[in-house]
Amino acid sequence: MSERASTSPTDPTRSAAMSGRCLCGAVQIELDPPTDYFGICHCRSCRLSHGAPCVAWTSVPLAQLRFLTGEDRVRWYRSSPLVRWGFCGECGSHLLYRADGEGHPESPRVGHVYVSAACLEPPLDRELEGHVSFEEKLPWFPVADSLPKQRGKGLEELDG
Ligand SMILES: [Zn+2]
Ligand SMILES: [Zn+2]
Repeated sequence: MSERASTSPTDPTRSAAMSGRCLCGAVQIELDPPTDYFGICHCRSCRLSHGAPCVAWTSVPLAQLRFLTGEDRVRWYRSSPLVRWGFCGECGSHLLYRADGEGHPESPRVGHVYVSAACLEPPLDRELEGHVSFEEKLPWFPVADSLPKQRGKGLEELDG
């Protein structure tokens, strides 16, 4: 219990909106709690889109995301007919991920928006839940926590 609290300071009682932004500030967003997910994805698509060893995602129903500014600056890269990645057209920060239809093999939730948690000012309203697509983790990237580690986005847990 205390382990989790120390690796991920969060505030489950949070009722204020969480604010987020891109690197240049052209895109500024707010998320209303409650979020419904907070996990770290190691899949190759996340790694390549963000240029990072893994991506921490939170998600909310679409109605809980507001653009304070810059909604028209967001560009979307569609990696498949069903999913797209939203980033700032000015600075390239990747902020958003959306599914537009059912049937994607990884079953992202339609009607929700995934938001890059690293672009949000802490504390988030939810504790980090664990790792997904852990079988795709880069071999040189250390992960030493005791959180659940799943194969793909399903519920199958990996050892370690
Ligand atoms: Zn920007
Ligand atoms: Zn991923």
